[in-house]
Amino acid sequence: MPELLDGRLLYGAAVYPEVVDAETFAADAAHMRHLGMNTARIGEFMWAALEPDRDDVRLDVLHRALQVLDANGLAAILCTPTVTPPVWLTHGHPERLHHNADGTPLGHGSRQHVCTNSPVFRERAALVTEALAAAVGNDSRVVAWQLDNEFKSHVGGCHCAGCAELWAEWLEKRYLEVAILNESWLSAIWSETYQNFVQVPMPGPTPFLHNTSLVNEFRLFSQASINGFAREQAAIIRAHSSIPVTHNSGFGFDLDNPALYSDLDFSSFDTYPAADNYSAFLMNLDYFPRLGKARRTVLMETSPSHGGTVRQYGRPHPHGFVEAEAFANFASGSAGFLFWLFRQHRGGSEQPHGSVVSSWGQPTIGYPSAAAIGELLPRIRPLLEHSRPVQPAVALHYSDHAKGFLATESGEGTDYRSLVSAFHAGLVRAGTSRALLPVEGALAGFRVLFTPFVRHLPDDHRARILDWVHDGGTWVCGPLTGDRTEDHTWHGESALDGLEDAAGVESVFQFPATGSGSCGTILGHDVGLTRMSTFFRVNADSAAVTGAQVLGAVTAGPAEGLAFATERRIGAGRMILLGSFPVSLDAGHSGHEGDTGRAGGHDDGAALAAMVEYACAGTLPAVRTAGDGVVALAGRAAAALAGQHGQRNGRFPAGPAGTHSAGQGRRRTQRFTRGHCWRRRHPWSACHSSACHRSACHSSGRRRPGRGRSGSSGPRRRPGRRPIPGLPSPAAALPDRCHPARRHPHPRPVQLPGSGRNDKGDLPMKWLEQAPRVDTALSFGRPWPQGELAAGDVGRMVLGDADTLHEARPLAFWPDGSIKWTAHAAVVAEGQDAEGLEPRLAPRKPAPRQPEADIPATELLARPAPTASGWTPECSPQPSPTRGAGSPGRCLARTAANSPVACAWWWARRTRRWPSLPRKWRRPGPCAPW
Ligand SMILES: [Zn+2]
Repeated sequence: MPELLDGRLLYGAAVYPEVVDAETFAADAAHMRHLGMNTARIGEFMWAALEPDRDDVRLDVLHRALQVLDANGLAAILCTPTVTPPVWLTHGHPERLHHNADGTPLGHGSRQHVCTNSPVFRERAALVTEALAAAVGNDSRVVAWQLDNEFKSHVGGCHCAGCAELWAEWLEKRYLEVAILNESWLSAIWSETYQNFVQVPMPGPTPFLHNTSLVNEFRLFSQASINGFAREQAAIIRAHSSIPVTHNSGFGFDLDNPALYSDLDFSSFDTYPAADNYSAFLMNLDYFPRLGKARRTVLMETSPSHGGTVRQYGRPHPHGFVEAEAFANFASGSAGFLFWLFRQHRGGSEQPHGSVVSSWGQPTIGYPSAAAIGELLPRIRPLLEHSRPVQPAVALHYSDHAKGFLATESGEGTDYRSLVSAFHAGLVRAGTSRALLPVEGALAGFRVLFTPFVRHLPDDHRARILDWVHDGGTWVCGPLTGDRTEDHTWHGESALDGLEDAAGVESVFQFPATGSGSCGTILGHDVGLTRMSTFFRVNADSAAVTGAQVLGAVTAGPAEGLAFATERRIGAGRMILLGSFPVSLDAGHSGHEGDTGRAGGHDDGAALAAMVEYACAGTLPAVRTAGDGVVALAGRAAAALAGQHGQRNGRFPAGPAGTHSAGQGRRRTQRFTRGHCWRRRHPWSACHSSACHRSACHSSGRRRPGRGRSGSSGPRRRPGRRPIPGLPSPAAALPDRCHPARRHPHPRPVQLPGSGRNDKGDLPMKWLEQAPRVDTALSFGRPWPQGELAAGDVGRMVLGDADTLHEARPLAFWPDGSIKWTAHAAVVAEGQDAEGLEPRLAPRKPAPRQPEADIPATELLARPAPTASGWTPECSPQPSPTRGAGSPGRCLARTAANSPVACAWWWARRTRRWPSLPRKWRRPGPCAPW
């Protein structure tokens, strides 16, 4: 089977040849190439240009665009244009338009304004797609197809007359007999009993609430309908083309993504997270690669600086954030990274959206990031080619069906995506490499599984998960899991149906605990209990048989004396049943009357951190492996995404989620660092190996303040079985948590052997076996004598060979605040000598140069051709401003306005971008240094 996209890594942006003139389009294509881009996405809104009137199909705009792109080395992702049907299709035909829940049709305009179930729309969409597929279906200039764009991002289910007929057919197919529907939906309530399927309404306006079963079923109908359209379109393309087909989706749309991608070749997504919500970006990378036939994904849209429309202005990213996104994207296995969009739109409604160049062709604030990624990609390509992503040990279920259940039963304003995002953010903060897994996803290879907020858990999946638990998995089931039937009714026999039997407990109460004064203890901590909760009884007699035990007990409230969390060993694994949503009392969530207890804010992820810690004990994060035990990372990206510090120094900052070693990789690291291992790393703890356990940071995650060393002597053989001394503060991230100013008094400082001396002679870097035979990634630790290395200097560290791609971050501190351990991750070149990996401090940066030294990228590369726009490549050697008279110097050219700019040859030399320059620029110039 050929490799997806022929093994290419795509980097590019969306372009709109139907909007700009040919000259501008050509200049943009050349400009994209200068930036190291190799891909352009075209066509998703092009229908009116391709078929200006009914049956008047003109593909000249497409052919010209492909020609220009190809001439500039850019492959095309070609989209079908069905998201924006032209006006000749809708004008005078309201029946073809999408109808709101109240039955009113939308007007023409914007996008997604038609009913995608309309037979006329389906016919015209098939014709235009077939015309495209027939014309360029096997064109080597096209690298992938994208169906439509962002299905159901603006509208949900359509309520037109045509959809009403399809709705009745859907129900008949699902339930066979209307009596079965009535029984399943409990339609007798409020006399809603139906006599036939045609009578079942769509969830339109009513005086009060609709039956939950009806609302949920209609959402499934809508999702299945759009997936049917996608299958139809993909089949049309595949009749003419062998190029892989995808769709640009996302978390926020009303879709069943696993079902959608089951028929598509690979997944792709768009994402526009704010920098302080960086875990939302990583969430995409944890989920979408597991969808689609090829199990690969492409980031189809993100902004080089900020999102926005005329109704909402986005906030620009901090410097370095987008580069970190790109690094994390490729390190996670994504096959592409594309911006929306290259040239800012002058009109429409998204003019304020960030772009690579402005509508007048000048570099935007996001331009330096686009240029930096163009330089980054070839540098990390060897790492990507010689390693692969590692399957994480920890999985978090993500379910579009569960999302629908919580949209139907929103209760206290609960939003599924927010809840899961907060939970996922907790895993990110914990430094745990994780996967977002569809509920139907395979569990092989995972060791820990979280299933929160999945209100209906199908029997077959529950049985499959329990088999996996029996074989050694740890399953944290809940909160808000398993308490509803497939039809969104409550169970009749017990609160959680089969989950009680599996967990060895008996459900007693189920009620909304928020505001009820419900509190409890779990893992040694006092917590408030919130949201719809189920409380259990663990019968002593049955517990002797099942082995079930209370993990979290209710200490106050209507369910006082019962359990809200239990644990049971099942075979070689264990099942933790979480019946309530614990929140930190420290965060003000007491659960008492008057306290909103609304756990929708930033507290959610942190409140469950103790459970995460408890369940994940013993798992080790890892991101990529070369297959021989070498573990690589996406740590520098995650760190920069965390926005911790150092974004402005031109390097990715160090941070909480760095390189991690596991399995064979750890052993190799141990050899490399003479036995000093990272046996176990965690955001609120440092290494717990026998070598460094006693000297690691003693922050809140491991020891309760004032308890000294009691209860924590010696290495942790079963770290997961110990109670967690304190819920970590949600506001605290690793660097702060471990910072001397915030950590607790060190109970008994222990100095490392050789500390107080310059230990370079004691700990020379050396390969115990041999240097790597290919470019590879390594992680290792380095001890430092007390007082030698200040915390603020870590961001300035380089390796002996300063060109080695490298990052460092603090692991542990001495009592005086100086660094005790640093962690290092590096991409090591083939045959690298060990001395070249000795960490050292780079000299401080010299004072800023004269102003003209900072001109280059923006002013130069914004000009598409040397002879255009008044730029004259007549160079005049100038003395180097930093090396003085007589030095080889740099060259300056002058614009028509006689202002100096850096010349192309000098800039190419400085940025090592010479090979990517256009051929006409690659002639020798009068620049003496060359
Ligand atoms: Zn419709």
